[in-house]
Amino acid sequence: MGSRVSIITNDLDRCIFCGRPREAIHHVYYGTANRRVSEANGFIVPLCRDHHTGNGGVHFNKCLDLFLKRKCQEEFEKTHTREEFLKLIGRNYL
Ligand SMILES: [Zn+2]
Ligand SMILES: [Zn+2]
Repeated sequence: MGSRVSIITNDLDRCIFCGRPREAIHHVYYGTANRRVSEANGFIVPLCRDHHTGNGGVHFNKCLDLFLKRKCQEEFEKTHTREEFLKLIGRNYL
């Protein structure tokens, strides 16, 4: 725990959507969970500028945002219960 590893990718240097060099580490459940919870559980993803804060990026595109939230929850629930997820994030996305 404590290492900055994403639950859905092992490559933090490239954008998870397009493979271009990562510009930011995005916190998937921003607004609902604190950074410590996100980092401890790998709810972070590498993103290029376009897919982060661009017009079609996760901060503006609800579909893309939800896609990441669902994917992380799915991955988390392979090794944890729904209850544990709700305890951390407070909301179900599946
Ligand atoms: Zn990208
Ligand atoms: Zn972000």
